[in-house]
Parts: sequence; C-alpha cells; structure tokens
Amino acid sequence: MATKKKPAAGKAPVTRKLTIKKHKWELPPKGGKMESPDPIYFQNMPYARIEERLKKNDLIILPIGSTEAHGPNACPGEDTFLVTRMAEQVAQKVGCTIAQPLWYGSHPFHHMGMPGTILVPEETFIGMLKAMMAGFWNTGFRKMILLNGHGQEYVIPTAIHQFAKHFQVPGVFINLNWYHAIPDEFNTKDKGGPYDTPFIHADEVETSWSLALFPEFMDQSVAVDTVPRGWMPDGHIDKAGNLLRRPIAWYGQVGCGPVEISAYPEGCVGKSTKADPEKAYKGISAFMDYLTALCEDIMEAFPVGKLPPADQLTQRSPEEIKAVTKKPLTKGWKSIYSLGYPF
Ligand SMILES: [Zn+2]
Repeated sequence: MATKKKPAAGKAPVTRKLTIKKHKWELPPKGGKMESPDPIYFQNMPYARIEERLKKNDLIILPIGSTEAHGPNACPGEDTFLVTRMAEQVAQKVGCTIAQPLWYGSHPFHHMGMPGTILVPEETFIGMLKAMMAGFWNTGFRKMILLNGHGQEYVIPTAIHQFAKHFQVPGVFINLNWYHAIPDEFNTKDKGGPYDTPFIHADEVETSWSLALFPEFMDQSVAVDTVPRGWMPDGHIDKAGNLLRRPIAWYGQVGCGPVEISAYPEGCVGKSTKADPEKAYKGISAFMDYLTALCEDIMEAFPVGKLPPADQLTQRSPEEIKAVTKKPLTKGWKSIYSLGYPF
C-alpha cells in the first residue's frame, strides 16, 4: 500500500479542498456518555490513560453549553446535551478527547430574568473559557474546538482572541457553533427543507434535534406553541444562528422585540408541538460528518505533537515558546502561567 507523506505542520498547501465523508451514526444515541467509563471524557479517565491518548491524539473538544429555559417539554440542559451527544460519537470515531461541558453560559439581554435560565456575566464567562483553555494547554491538549450549543456565538470569539493576545502561543483554538456548520439543514419546506417554521429558540427545529439526540429528557405531552413577534417589519433582524442572512444579526439589536419574560414566559419561541425527530436526523448526521472532517483535518494539518509554526504566529522568543510547548513536567518545560497571570 502506498503511504501518503504527511505535510509538515504549516507547510500544507492552502488550496486543499474540504471533503466531508458521510458516516453512519447511531440516532437516537443509546444514552449519553458523560458518566461512561468509555475513553471519551477527560474527567472520567485514569490519568495514565489520558497520557497514553495524548501520544496518539492531542485534540480536545470543549463543549460550551448553557442552562436555559426551553419550554415545559424540554430540559434546561438542552443546549449542552445538543453538543455533547453529537461530540461523543465523533470523538469515539476520531480518537480525540472531550472535556466535561461548561454548563453555564452567556445570554443576550432578552433572556434576562427568565426562571430556569442561569445568566453568567460576559466577563465571567469569557474568563472561564480562557481558564479552561489555559488549563488544557498546560495538560498537553494544544488543539481545541470550543463546540458551542447555545446563542452565545458573539461572546466566545472574544475569549479566543483575548487568550491569544495574552499568551501568544502557537496552538489551534477554534469556535464551532453547531448551527453554523450546516446552514442548509435548517431550511423550511418552501426551500426544500423539513421544517414549517424557521429556527428561533426551543421551537420546532431545536426541539426536533433534542428529540433525536436525547428523547429521554423530553416530554412532548406538555409542549406548547407561542407566536414570535417584534415591532419592526420582518426581514430586518435575523433569527437563531443568523441563518436567514438578514442585514441585522439576531444579537445585533435591543428594542426591536420584547424580552422573553414579557412575551414568551412559556420558554419557547415558536412551534415546539411541530417537533419531530425525523426532521432532524439528516441535519444531525450532516453536523457529525462535518465535525469528524474538522477533527481529522486538524490532526492532518498538525499531527500529534505538532503545532502551527511559532515563527508565523508569535513574536515571543523561541526559548519562551520552547518551554511552554514541551510535554508537561519534562525537562525544560514551563507552565503556560509562567507567561503571565492573571489573564
Ligand atoms: Zn437552546
């Protein structure tokens, strides 16, 4: 068998095309893996096993969720389970590790005061993300996917950039929002998709995905519908994920629509009674195929132990970079905190 020579990190041609292979996934999954001894979650493994894994795959997925009201039929952990359930099967396939999720997130103004929604201030949330990144770097995981399951995509990139500006280390730090990876999978029926209504929140779309990924945490017998409303003509302001490509992002305004406790105290914005797991399976498979391709392409571009070229990413001295990129606790290694604390 001919062996393909792996390109050196940073030397790969930039014209490579993204290829996404289709895989067969178990949907709905047979339960979750957060308490499973299967080698998936960082916190669940004997440390010796983590060190063995780091020799084969040093990519870690950090699931970033929320605790948020999603209607009487849905669990408040919905945004977290959406991404952990998908990441679990992908991690098993590609051999990367998952961190136990961040269960509390950042929220837009219109979520404020909603019972069941735990609102973390932006600074605290960003600080937590940076602390997780620093800690996993220091453990030897220097390629990270911050896999986000909640409407906080406008906050997470700030954490990545603050981390990068402070530490200036040559790692791979990616924020992936599940709904952005597969925008065509949220189409309404008039555009050839499976849904009657566009994706908003705890609605037909999100509930369909939840029923497909963790039906055991849902109870559709108490599902309710609400009518989304705003004071501007429809067409200016986008909805969840900005998937409709409207001029103003969903988080790019305050004052054009009511807050949740006033207009949608039920916790759902849209038609959750129209949810059906069958509508979601194709989109979920497409997302998991994409996440698989992303993990494989990161490890292809930067095989285990390899990082992006420091001389093209940072002006820190080669000595400083050498020390913080060494295997933890080996001779000459320094912790990432040696570059500065607090951050
Ligand atoms: Zn949600």
